[in-house]
Amino acid sequence: MARVIGTVPRPVALHEPEIRNGDIAAVADCVRGGWVSPVAPIARRFEAELGRISNSEHVIVCSSGTAALHLALLAIGVGPGDEVLVPALSFAATANAVVYCGAQPHFCDVEPQALGLDPAALARHLAACGQAGPNGLVNRNTGRRIAAVLPMHAFGHPVALDEIAAICAQYDLPLVEDAAEALGSTYHGRPVGSIGRIGIFSFNGNKIVTTGGGGAVVTNDAALGEKARHLGTTARRRDTGRIEHDAVGFNYGMPGLNAALGLAQVERLPELIQRKRDLAGRYRAAFAGMAGTSLVEELPDTRSIYWLNTLMLDNAAAADAALAALHERQIMARPIWTPLHLLPMFRDSPRMPDMQAERLAACGINLPSSAHL
Ligand SMILES: *Cc1c(COP(=O)(O)O)cnc(C)c1O
Repeated sequence: MARVIGTVPRPVALHEPEIRNGDIAAVADCVRGGWVSPVAPIARRFEAELGRISNSEHVIVCSSGTAALHLALLAIGVGPGDEVLVPALSFAATANAVVYCGAQPHFCDVEPQALGLDPAALARHLAACGQAGPNGLVNRNTGRRIAAVLPMHAFGHPVALDEIAAICAQYDLPLVEDAAEALGSTYHGRPVGSIGRIGIFSFNGNKIVTTGGGGAVVTNDAALGEKARHLGTTARRRDTGRIEHDAVGFNYGMPGLNAALGLAQVERLPELIQRKRDLAGRYRAAFAGMAGTSLVEELPDTRSIYWLNTLMLDNAAAADAALAALHERQIMARPIWTPLHLLPMFRDSPRMPDMQAERLAACGINLPSSAHL
C-alpha cells in the first residue's frame, strides 16, 4: 500500500532521512554564524559527539564515507601493489577505496545469517594462499603483500569481530572496519567502528544519520588519527606559519554546514535505533513461518541498528517476482548488491573460489526500512 500524504499517494521509499525543524534551525544558525567551512568549530563538536557514541578517542569527519575509507587505508599504510581482503558482498566504495590507494581488492566470502565476512572461509583461504614474506603476509598466487582485512557491517549487522580479529592477529594484519552502515551498532556491548585498528562511518543521505554527504574516520590509535587528519587536510604542516605541505594530501574535510546537520541528527540516534529495531521486529513477526523466506538477522551477542532489512527468498526467480510485485504497488524494495567480483572493474581481482555470496546476492532483497514506517 502506498503511503498517502494529503491526497497524493507516494511510493514507499527504501530509506528516507528524517529532517526535523530543529535540524533546519541548526543548519540555518550555522550559515548565519558564518562558520560554514571544514575549519568550523561545529565540525569539531560533531567529532567529539561521534567519539562519545563510538568509544573512539580520535575522530576525523570527512566529505564522504568513501573519502574516510581512503584516509583510513592510507593511514594504516596500504599502498601501490598491495592487496586488501574485502567482502565480495558490499557497496562498491569498500573496494573502490582500496584501488584509490593503488592496491587491489581481494574478495572473500560472506556468511548467510548477517551477510558479513565469513571468518571460517577467511581462515581457510589464508591458510591456502598466505605465505610469510619479508614485509608481511604475501598472496602466493599473485606475489603481492596482503596489507589489511576490511570487513563491512552489512546493513548495520556487526560482523564476527572476535573471530576475524583472531585471524588478523595470527597473520599480523591490521583490521579496518567499514562501519558505514552501522553507526550505533554494538558487538559484545561495544560500539563498532574502532574495535579494529581504525574504521569509518558514512553520513550519506540514505544512512541512519545524515549530513547530506559525509563520513568519519574513527580510531583509538593517536598516530593513525593524526595521519588520517593530516592527509585529509591537504597534508598542510601546522608547525610553521607558512603555507607548506609535506605530502600530496586530499581536501576531504567536512564543511561545518554539513556537521551542523549531523550534530542535530545524532542527538536522536538512540530513538532512531529503537524505532528501526521495532520495525525489524514487525518484519520478523510478519514473515514468521512463511515458507521460502528468511530474514537476515544480527549475530548472537550483537545489537544491530537494522539499517536496512533484508529478506532472503529461496531462489533468484522468487526474489525477482517479489521485487516486481512490490514495485507494482509502489513499494521501493531493491535487490541487494551485485557481488563486487562480478563488476567489470573488479573481474580480474583475486578472490576466493566458490563463494556463496553470489547465491545470497541473487536471493536477497532489501525491504523499506525508514524509521517512520
Ligand atoms: C554508504 C557506504 C559507504 C560510504 O559511502 P559514501 O556515500 O561515500 O558516504 C561505504 N561503504 C558502505 C558499505 C556503505 O554502505
